[in-house]
Amino acid sequence: MSDVFNFSAGPATLPVDVLRQAQDELLNWNNQGVSVMEMSHRDPAYVRMAREAEQDLRDLLDVPDDYEVLFLQGGGRGQFSAVPQNIAAPDSTVDYLDTGIWSGFAIREAEKFVAKVNVAGHVKEGVKGKEIQSPDDWQLSDNAAYFHYCPNETVDGIALHDIPNVNAPIVADMSSNILSEPLDVSKFGVIYAGAQKNIGPSGFAIAIVKRDLLGSPQKQVSSIMDYQLQAKDGSMYNTPNTFAWYLAGLVFKWLKVQGGLSEMGRINHEKAQLLYDFIDKSDFYRNTVNPQYRSIMNVPFQLADDKLDAEFLAQAEAAGFKGLKGHRFVGGMRASIYNAMPVAGVKALLSFMADFERSQS
Ligand code: PMP
Repeated sequence: MSDVFNFSAGPATLPVDVLRQAQDELLNWNNQGVSVMEMSHRDPAYVRMAREAEQDLRDLLDVPDDYEVLFLQGGGRGQFSAVPQNIAAPDSTVDYLDTGIWSGFAIREAEKFVAKVNVAGHVKEGVKGKEIQSPDDWQLSDNAAYFHYCPNETVDGIALHDIPNVNAPIVADMSSNILSEPLDVSKFGVIYAGAQKNIGPSGFAIAIVKRDLLGSPQKQVSSIMDYQLQAKDGSMYNTPNTFAWYLAGLVFKWLKVQGGLSEMGRINHEKAQLLYDFIDKSDFYRNTVNPQYRSIMNVPFQLADDKLDAEFLAQAEAAGFKGLKGHRFVGGMRASIYNAMPVAGVKALLSFMADFERSQS
């Protein structure tokens, strides 16, 4: 293992045990004499592995029986267009919360497929920092085909920790927080996630869809995006990303060995708390999100003097802390601390941050 801790927002760090196993069996998977990338997705051994991965994901999230679990392509943004195509008629209204950069992209994509995208609520500046408007202030539509939100805004580090209480089916973009803690799947109509943070390689996506939402009200849905078609074909309507599916399966098994999502949740809250406590105590670093809305996966932070950003990032990189540069839209720094980031990585980062602060005083 290298001495690097990788805080990239995605594609992100993966469990070392998983990468080792993939390396060990790269040339000869499951005694097949070939790599898992070189065999048919219809091969019984591959199908067995694929179904086991689905079952492991169902076990981890305790997915109720009336939900389909789909393994799709096109990453998170693919789902921005799959969702309206699959569950809203062209003349319908849909409600979206606009809580950050990814919500904004999802809104602009949905506008292509439905008559009206109603932005029901926003982020605002409060006395304790950036926060999401209270549900009492949301402007919900009477007959929305669905309500969409992003519980964890990866760029902004803003999270909505409570599941909204709305009448329409809830659709959630969980690209950056899926599998980070236990979740009540039964509250949702659709949960989707691009894979490259807590699941596996990029370009791959997961959608968990309540069965009563299958069957699009749109006349034309592109077939590879069609939830009903993909469900009927076991997510193999077209050739799936076989390697990503395999790697995701290894990650699911790793999560089970770690103790499942309650244990991951405990560790993730601990990591986030360590970072936020350190930042809040410091005059040198700051985070501008109201503590109630802070992400436990993506921790953006700024230096009091942003002229030091480049120096901070250069020294961090040299010390083995990768991927700390904030998103190009917002600048500053961001530590992404997904499931595969150990507590030791966060503690090492804090020690570096303390040293850097001292070196500047
Ligand atoms: N939603 C969220 C919350 C994300 O963080 C991202 C990617 N960072 C996306 C959607 C887009 O994912 P992709 O690049 O796989 O399309």
